[in-house]
Amino acid sequence: MNCPFCHHTESKVIDSRDSAEGEIIRRRRECEKCGERFTTYERLEQVYPAVIKKDARRENFDPKKILEGVRKACEKRPVPIATLEDLVHKASVWVQEQETEEIESKKIGLKVMELLHDLDEVAYVRFASVYRSFEDLGEFMKELKDLLGKQKSG
Ligand SMILES: [Zn+2]
Repeated sequence: MNCPFCHHTESKVIDSRDSAEGEIIRRRRECEKCGERFTTYERLEQVYPAVIKKDARRENFDPKKILEGVRKACEKRPVPIATLEDLVHKASVWVQEQETEEIESKKIGLKVMELLHDLDEVAYVRFASVYRSFEDLGEFMKELKDLLGKQKSG
C-alpha cells in the first residue's frame, strides 16, 4: 500500500477495525518515510475450500446450507435469527482459517455443533442427532467425546 503523499511503499498500521459485517477492515496507517497518516479499506476475500461430501463428491461451500441446518435445529427454540446468522458467520470464518483447498463436510458439521453447544443445548442435541455425515455411530461418539472433553478443559 503506497503512501498517497510520497508514494513510499512501507507504512505501519496504527489502528485497525472491522466493519459491522466483518468483511471490510479499516486500517489507519502511518507512512514510514514522511510520517503522514492515511486510511485504507481492505475487503477480505471470500475464498472457501471445496467441501468433500461423504460420497467423496465435491461441492462449493455454501453458508446458506449451514443456516438451513441450524435453523431447523433451533425450531421453536428461543434463539434469534441474528444469533444464528452470527453462528454461520463464525463457522464460515473458521472454514476460511483452515487454509486448505478441500475440507470434509463432517469437520464443518463438528464446528457447527461446537458453536451450537454454546448457544442452546436442545438445538445442539437435535443437530447432533440428525447429523448424518459420520461414517458410523462409533466415530460420531468418539468425535463427540473429544469435543466435549476439549470444551471442559478449554
Ligand atoms: Zn509518505
